[in-house]
Amino acid sequence: MTSEPCDACGESVRIAGGIANIWSFTHEPSGGMTIEFPTGEDFFLCFQCLDALPEDATAADVATFVAAGGYEL
Ligand SMILES: [Zn+2]
Repeated sequence: MTSEPCDACGESVRIAGGIANIWSFTHEPSGGMTIEFPTGEDFFLCFQCLDALPEDATAADVATFVAAGGYEL
């Protein structure tokens, strides 16, 4: 396990070391994942921030969200 700050809220998020551990996400009270867009942008977000985003968020939506500081807004 390692940790990485959420791009939006800055919270340190525990992440699994490899894709083989992806199922562990469902059991973690906190966590996050990287979302990638076809345009090449990618963002690492905690699940609180992911939950706050609309499901059809575009890369521009996420960039705005990240710039605004994340889910607490
Ligand atoms: Zn966050």
